[in-house]
Amino acid sequence: MMDVVIAGCGPTGAMLAAELRLHNVDVLVLDAGTEPAAAVRIVSLHIRSLELMAMRGLLDRLLERGRRRPAGAYFAAIDKPAPESLNSAYAYLLGIPQPAIVSLLEDHAASLGAEVRRGCAVTGFQQDDDGVTASLSDGGQVRTRYLVGCDGARSTVRKLLGVGFPGEASSSDTLMGELHAETPPSQIAATVAEIRRTDKRFSVGPAGPGVYRVIVPTTTTGGGHTLDDFRRELHTIAGTDFGVHSPRWLSRFGNATRLADRYRVGRVLLAGDAAHIHPPLGGQGLNLGVQDAVNVGWKLAAQVQGWAPAGLLDTYEAERRPVAADVLDNTRAQAELLAPGPGPHAVRRLLTELMDFDEVNNHLLEKITGIGIRYDFGAGPDLVGRRLADVALGQGNVYGLLHHGRGLLLDRTGNLSVSGWSDRVDLVADPATVVAGPGVLVRPDGYVAWVGDDQGELEGQLSRWFGTPT
Ligand SMILES: Cc1cc2nc3c(=O)[nH]c(=O)nc-3n(C[C@H](O)[C@H](O)[C@H](O)COP(=O)(O)OP(=O)(O)OC[C@H]3O[C@@H](n4cnc5c(N)ncnc54)[C@H](O)[C@@H]3O)c2cc1C
Repeated sequence: MMDVVIAGCGPTGAMLAAELRLHNVDVLVLDAGTEPAAAVRIVSLHIRSLELMAMRGLLDRLLERGRRRPAGAYFAAIDKPAPESLNSAYAYLLGIPQPAIVSLLEDHAASLGAEVRRGCAVTGFQQDDDGVTASLSDGGQVRTRYLVGCDGARSTVRKLLGVGFPGEASSSDTLMGELHAETPPSQIAATVAEIRRTDKRFSVGPAGPGVYRVIVPTTTTGGGHTLDDFRRELHTIAGTDFGVHSPRWLSRFGNATRLADRYRVGRVLLAGDAAHIHPPLGGQGLNLGVQDAVNVGWKLAAQVQGWAPAGLLDTYEAERRPVAADVLDNTRAQAELLAPGPGPHAVRRLLTELMDFDEVNNHLLEKITGIGIRYDFGAGPDLVGRRLADVALGQGNVYGLLHHGRGLLLDRTGNLSVSGWSDRVDLVADPATVVAGPGVLVRPDGYVAWVGDDQGELEGQLSRWFGTPT
């Protein structure tokens, strides 16, 4: 019997597989596609995801494949630079093709020992008290203790589970692709500038010699994305199709906004787009999925390894579902701000003025980048429930200590101990560590579980998150 089967090897499934392997959990990842997805869309990795990648030692490899950009100007594409006071060593945005992220995460998971089987979909499953029997598209079956649906927006696992996915259906689709164009660049730029004064969702920008990345809102939903569809929709909005031809790739996406009612039913869980979908405004979906994976990975590993305290696995839904609900809301708000018409334009101008106040700008940026998240761990100092920003140590940095996905106690007092939990939690005693507390207990996902100097209190929190002492 496998420990965990993951349906879907997109960014969420691949990240989750790697997280589970850090704890020696047997993992099989099944993906319906014979090859990774082909559409080379450039996605944004925001600060919290960059921090997570640094925590797992993956950031340098990602930086080689992407382009760093300033962190600001992502809320409804309102052109305001990020405030200088951002508290992160990774205060930028990385634009990177999604396939590059998936292949890096898949390689990482495989190098840690995960098995990835492509061209094999999960088509059904049944769960009982001891495990889940999943049926596969190749006619086989696999028995596993847990099944996680990371199988994207149309998730088979979610549907078979019978979990509701309420929200709004797509009301308008967008065509996106990379195509060659005959019209001279200066003429394209002038036409695009004119249209963008009224419709911010339209764009035709250079993507290589003679090639343009085209984004065109449509008035229909659920149609095709052929070259003819692009030409027709370009004509409708711009009065010309710019002579587009020879596409590199074409795609179509909608603006449906939905959130799964539950993230877990018994031994079956959902993560990533399988649990939440929204329009790609602010570039947040992949970030959300990767962060789901890092949140649930160590908890599921604890469950499988038998040291999970009661209720730990349920904290996954309790923590991550509200974060997704907030992202859905901010994309709804951005959609209103980007809509054509004098009303939305007036609200957009007003918000643009308000963003001159650093507090407003910071608040919106923290939403988009994920660094403003504070999980509800109960009463405590403000840092409890928030992510720990990376800080330098005498040697190296704090994130360097989190590569193996274990808990971490930073002790400036020299008097605290993790004895009884040292198989799950590392201890670094260093009076010079620059953290906001005498002792700081950090979960494997980089969120602060406790701040204080009392050993009794610490042991209560160690039990709460890491189970009984050995
Ligand atoms: C135009 C556009 C731009 C975007 N830009 C950004 C951005 O800048 N930043 C950002 O964070 N997000 C962005 N997103 C969103 C991002 O692409 C998604 O949120 C992300 O792909 C979700 O990852 P996932 O792993 O959850 O699901 P997916 O990437 O959809 O992966 C699901 C995988 O499951 C497989 N699968 C499906 N069914 C089965 C089955 N039954 N059994 C086994 N395998 C199965 C599929 O083959 C696929 O490989 C954008 C989206 C669009 C459309």
